[in-house]
Amino acid sequence: MLQEPVSSIRGVGPKKAGALKKLDILKIEDFLFLYPRNYEDRSNRKKIAQLSDGEQAYVTAQVVLIVKGGFRYGKKRTLKLLAQDETGSLEVVFFAQAGYLEKAFQQGRTYGFFGRVSLQKGRMQMMHPEFQEEQSAGEGSCGEAAVQREEGILPVYPLSAGLTQRDLRRYSRLALSHAQELSEYLPAQTLQRNRLCGLHYALQNIHYPQDRTKYKEAKYRLIFDELLLLQMGILLTRSKIDHQYTGIRFSSRHKMEQFTDSLPYPLTPAQKKVLSEIERDMESSKVMNRLVQGDVGSGKTAVAAAALYKAVKSGYQGVLMAPTEILAMQHYEGLSRQFAPFGITVGFLSATVGAKERRQLLSQLSEGGVQILIGTHALIQSDVAFLRLGLVITDEQHRFGVDQRSLLGEKGDHPDTMVMTATPIPRTLAVVLYGDLDISVIDQLPPGRQPVVTKALRATQREAVLEFLLKEVNKGRQAYIVAPLIAESEQLSARSATEIYEEFSGRFAQISAALLHGAMKQKEKDEIMAGFYEGKIQVLISTVVIEVGINVPNATIMVIENAERFGLAQLHQLRGRVGRGRHQSYCLLISEGESAVARQRAEIMQSTSDGFRIAEEDLRLRGPGEFFGVRQHGVPELKLADLGKHAAILSAAREEARRLLESDVLLSDGENQRIKQRVQQVFHTAGQLQL
Ligand code: ADP
Ligand code: MG
Repeated sequence: MLQEPVSSIRGVGPKKAGALKKLDILKIEDFLFLYPRNYEDRSNRKKIAQLSDGEQAYVTAQVVLIVKGGFRYGKKRTLKLLAQDETGSLEVVFFAQAGYLEKAFQQGRTYGFFGRVSLQKGRMQMMHPEFQEEQSAGEGSCGEAAVQREEGILPVYPLSAGLTQRDLRRYSRLALSHAQELSEYLPAQTLQRNRLCGLHYALQNIHYPQDRTKYKEAKYRLIFDELLLLQMGILLTRSKIDHQYTGIRFSSRHKMEQFTDSLPYPLTPAQKKVLSEIERDMESSKVMNRLVQGDVGSGKTAVAAAALYKAVKSGYQGVLMAPTEILAMQHYEGLSRQFAPFGITVGFLSATVGAKERRQLLSQLSEGGVQILIGTHALIQSDVAFLRLGLVITDEQHRFGVDQRSLLGEKGDHPDTMVMTATPIPRTLAVVLYGDLDISVIDQLPPGRQPVVTKALRATQREAVLEFLLKEVNKGRQAYIVAPLIAESEQLSARSATEIYEEFSGRFAQISAALLHGAMKQKEKDEIMAGFYEGKIQVLISTVVIEVGINVPNATIMVIENAERFGLAQLHQLRGRVGRGRHQSYCLLISEGESAVARQRAEIMQSTSDGFRIAEEDLRLRGPGEFFGVRQHGVPELKLADLGKHAAILSAAREEARRLLESDVLLSDGENQRIKQRVQQVFHTAGQLQL
């Protein structure tokens, strides 16, 4: 029954099936895992005279008067009912599209109403209560199976148009009555060790909790369950990689130091530590799979370069992929210069490289004449072939999907891979998102950087900000002004880059300003960026397209308009664009409105420049769902688990996942088969990972 499509339920036609599909519900089993978003406690049954202002209660009363229409409010109109029991009367008000509701009530019949009560002009009122017709004793035998009486603690489900709570409650009850068909997928040992309740008990009590304690047990089990499956999925892919393939052993005679000694600065201890971790991986026969996290400006490029050096000296080729043309070019120029003294050849590939040049480059690449290739996602095209690819590095990895990463890796025979990200990821989240990677952190900036002075300001202080900006620009510095929108929007009252640009260039004709946004052609963007690099453009007015990696040391001012619309991690990235040279830099956050969260964020930005702390705060304030698009990473959706709140459960689940895989690495033992299937199922629906 659980595997039947929803259309096999009586009363579910194409319309309802379509509405259910929007909730990702295709078969009856799916109702079991559509968890309530809230509950209604209907155990608070009251007589009308006992009601008090503000409480939620369940009242049974007879409808004595129905007033339709009333006044129009947009397209909606009011439906007013006067309902009575033996103690008093209650006004029930709906604001709704005409039709359905008006037919739902009949004068003289008795209904149960559940909702919040308010005292309006001396009269008790309920707005938009949940309701159901009460059945008198005789009516139940009318042939139609008795309508289930809804009492106790009831689930409130997420809805989509065309569905009612009542529908969903009926479907979830139906699914629960067949829950026995679904067998427990967690091994008995796992349940015992972690004191988890059984699956059926958990499902029953997450939908229709019998009491608070049982609800808590159910919720704990299901959260643990989600986090465990997640960890298992991630660790399973990894164990597959670790156990099935032998990687390259890079030469231990060619040390990275030989390269880093040639740099004009000594490495920071943090860079050294990370390099030694990478060097160890490279020299071992295991396939390196490493995430290098380092705040903006921590010097990840030098780390990448040292690893590429070692790969080439060991007789392999290396590739470095960056998310934008500008960044790829920046890397290409820098690394060509640094590798020249070692006679290492570097090539560049992006979509803008001409056909003839491209052909030449690819032929050299396939013969080993180009030793290091740097470029954009154009690198993953199928005709880009290496002679002997040994090391794959992607920069600013959150811009790339997991698939793109692995496509690049497939161009070699299990090459070592490294991803570098400037987005500081809180430990709890990194474990989830990158559980398949080892993590190295460059937790220190090169010495001598002046911290960026950060100020949170109001819209009324904008003139003063402009004045300050002009003063700096006239001293020879450059500035960024970032806005959340490209153009004006009817829906959002935020400043747009276009609007600011027009205003600015109108008022200050003597200053060269330019507009940059994502909807512009690549060529145009590149020209403007080149102009800014060369200092011909003094003020760059843009959307967040400039967020990643741009390095213009002469730029010292970062003005962010509508700062309240940006996430903390994003503000931190933007701020990282300044403070890169020897001049004092400033980050000026202009916020509209007075929301508490906005104020908190501004305070955090003013008080710290530590990307990891900022990321932790961001996670706390916004929740992981929004935290730079967790879903985008192809991790199955977490329905009950909250990485911000459930760190302790996460570590218990991780421990358990480790334990299960330690004793049975491919989960092939009898009892482990079911959990393996379940992992495959949840990862499969997330469109990810074949195990
Ligand atoms: P990110 O980690 O943001 O990619 P980069 O690799 O672009 O940072 O480095 C930022 C700047 O710091 C570059 O100009 C680089 O030359 C410089 N740099 C890197 N490492 C050091 C160091 N150990 N000492 C001084 N400057 C460094
Ligand atoms: Mg970088």
